[in-house]
Amino acid sequence: MKPDIPSGVQHILQTLADAGFEAHLVGGCVRDLLRGVEPHDWDICTSARPEETEACFAGHRIIETGLKHGTVTVLEESEPCEVTTYRTEGPYSDSRRPDYVEFVSSLEADLARRDFTMNAIAMDLAGNVSDPFGGREDIQAGLLRCVGEPARRFREDGLRIMRALRFGAALGCTIEAETARAIHENRHMLRHVAAERINLELCRLLEGGRVGDILRQYPDVLCEFWPELGPLITLEQNTPWHCWGGWEHTVRAVEAAPADRILRLTMLLHDIGKPGCKSTDENGIDHFCGHPAVGAELADRMLRTLKFDNRTRERVVTLVKHHDVQLPPQDRVVRRWLNRLGPEAFFQLLEVKRADGMGQSRALVKDRLTQLDEMRAQAEAIIAQGQCFSQKDLAINGRDVIAAGVAPGPEVGRVLNALFERVLSGEIPNEREALRRLL
Ligand code: ATP
Ligand code: MG
Repeated sequence: MKPDIPSGVQHILQTLADAGFEAHLVGGCVRDLLRGVEPHDWDICTSARPEETEACFAGHRIIETGLKHGTVTVLEESEPCEVTTYRTEGPYSDSRRPDYVEFVSSLEADLARRDFTMNAIAMDLAGNVSDPFGGREDIQAGLLRCVGEPARRFREDGLRIMRALRFGAALGCTIEAETARAIHENRHMLRHVAAERINLELCRLLEGGRVGDILRQYPDVLCEFWPELGPLITLEQNTPWHCWGGWEHTVRAVEAAPADRILRLTMLLHDIGKPGCKSTDENGIDHFCGHPAVGAELADRMLRTLKFDNRTRERVVTLVKHHDVQLPPQDRVVRRWLNRLGPEAFFQLLEVKRADGMGQSRALVKDRLTQLDEMRAQAEAIIAQGQCFSQKDLAINGRDVIAAGVAPGPEVGRVLNALFERVLSGEIPNEREALRRLL
């Protein structure tokens, strides 16, 4: 098969070959080509040493990405392409980069250091495939399998555990039995992995189309970095609203949310406060009073542990905190929440509430889901009509208040606030004359 490769990448492969070196596409791009998916980046492995690679591309823009580790990035027709010398790896004692790498002359040795069989396939310009570990067969069968002995590979580098779950969720493949067992048994290796790296893989996992299957099968792995999930995983909830336990409900809510990082993270954490707030009444019905606020605090801590950026953390915490609010579909309620959260977060909150409802007893939440649709339509209309839901949109300002005889100072703000409240509640229209008369 002659692969469909961008001309810039072809040029790099050809240049290396013309200089007498072996050069192959490798890793994710080959995997994706074989799956019939368009690759999003292109990696090349070569027998050329880094300085030889640099010499080959003397006329190009290059970045010495990781010279010590054998990687040179060549910028060709805007397509950045990583060219890496065949190598084997020493241990990863910092769980970021191997302690040392050793350049080798055989392609097969380079493929042997790679994590999964489907990522350990090389392909040259003519489409000749090198596949010493049966990666093509595993792709065919939809199996994610370690190269070599799984337990050893996960002990070398704990990040591979999260990569396995991410590939399982994103590509929808089954994790092969021995690989799966080694993941469970070596999950503690994640303690040695930098938070930022876990964070990245977790987000890609959550955005995957098969996220539910992975969350159901590997909750123990998530508990390694987020032990706070433990009590939620075993939580039973005996309420008319819920036909599922805490974890199954959470998983269903994650699946029901759009494949968006913020929304999926929110659904994963939305009920994290429940175990700590559980009480059972005389009829045996469970209640979880105050769980959104408690959950927001826990979520904040958990997101800090994984070093999420402030914007992501603050947004998820806000959504967790408000996920359970009652939203009667009335214009004044919509305006008030648009004011409190801003339009973006408000629309996200509607998505969160929908996903939450989808994970509950279906018959009981049907009306609530319809209400959410109404609410979205109302909010869109309010925004389209330019209705006032933020104080800066009020038709009068501080100068008008002072002109009406209020002494400059804090009283001006108080008056503006009071007027804004009446506009929000729909008592008076946001019109200059009406507001002035009231003043
Ligand atoms: P994608 O780019 O879609 O995330 P990918 O498989 O290309 O998937 P990269 O992180 O770009 O993932 O890594 C490129 C290749 O390097 C992988 O396909 C794999 O062969 C190898 N690799 C990456 N990380 C590891 C690791 N931690 N252990 C072993 N091999 C790895
Ligand atoms: Mg890649």
